[in-house]
Amino acid sequence: MKFSTKLIRWHKTDGRKDLPWQQKKNPYKVWVSEIMLQQTQVSTVIPFYISFLKRFPNVKELAKSSEEDVMSFWSGLGYYSRARNLHKTSKLLVDKFNGKLPGSASALISLPGIGKSTAGAILSLGYDKRAPILDANVKRVLSRHEQIEGDLSKSSNIKKLWSISERLTPLDQCAIYNQAIMDLGALICKRSNPKCKRCPVKKDCLSFKKNLTKDIPKKVDKKSKPSKNVYWLIAIDKDENILLKKRNKEGVWAGLWSFPESSSKEKLRNEYQTLFKSKQKKLKSLPEINHSFSHFNLRAKPLLLNAENCMQHNSNSRKYKWIKKTRLKSLGVPSPVKRFLEK
Ligand code: SF4
Repeated sequence: MKFSTKLIRWHKTDGRKDLPWQQKKNPYKVWVSEIMLQQTQVSTVIPFYISFLKRFPNVKELAKSSEEDVMSFWSGLGYYSRARNLHKTSKLLVDKFNGKLPGSASALISLPGIGKSTAGAILSLGYDKRAPILDANVKRVLSRHEQIEGDLSKSSNIKKLWSISERLTPLDQCAIYNQAIMDLGALICKRSNPKCKRCPVKKDCLSFKKNLTKDIPKKVDKKSKPSKNVYWLIAIDKDENILLKKRNKEGVWAGLWSFPESSSKEKLRNEYQTLFKSKQKKLKSLPEINHSFSHFNLRAKPLLLNAENCMQHNSNSRKYKWIKKTRLKSLGVPSPVKRFLEK
């Protein structure tokens, strides 16, 4: 029996069918869910997906919303460039594609944030067309099944995996097959302790036969990440509003609202003295916040400023906002900042 037939059969009894984006499926829902699921687990994505779809039920609603609004619904999910690209693409879809996701791989790949695998998922799951995919789960299943031993991030191995995926993707029932192989990776062919005995393709899986499941995919030594040390200004006024500042369009948390930040205490002091016309020098140090990004570790030292007695503040420009803790939901605020404020 063919690889795809085994998976399609297995999916009937054991595959996932209750995920929110699988209900009344359409290309828009597939697109949003695929973008959210990049580097993020299903259980984390579900609540974000539900509230996002409630607020932005289709391309047109998304396109006419402000970036601020979109970011506030993404706040806490991380990798914010995904949300910015989703928003940018929705506008392009309205301008150039009549508000619909195009039905060809080349047109999909030309859009911001849509790669070959996401395009394959939109075409197969959203349009019921034959299109291969290669997300992290599929890479793991195929590399084990076909015994691809080297570093999977190498372009030669990615090429190999794409050609295997192309070869194994069936002409019919591609949507079920693609869902099945993703489910197999998530439920059975897990990163550690794969449940090979329950796997529908174990008979011809090379890694299972040769006892190589621990070695494939190859674990690549991650370089230790550099650290970035910054200071955060935590200013609270007499009505318990907190001062936030919109971050630049570049870098991590681009365009989100966070505390005024600087790599030097002195610069931060200059900033608030200008803002508040204040001579106050004393700032209270609060416990350090650590957050890990994919390419560096952030160590933030929060400095508390009691802005109650500051005579005047010039902080009502578009860059700054005084906000009550209870209103944080209406803004795109990174989760470490939110967590800090909740504490
Ligand atoms: S037999 Fe094991 S290693 Fe091979 S595809 Fe199935 S779960 Fe993965």
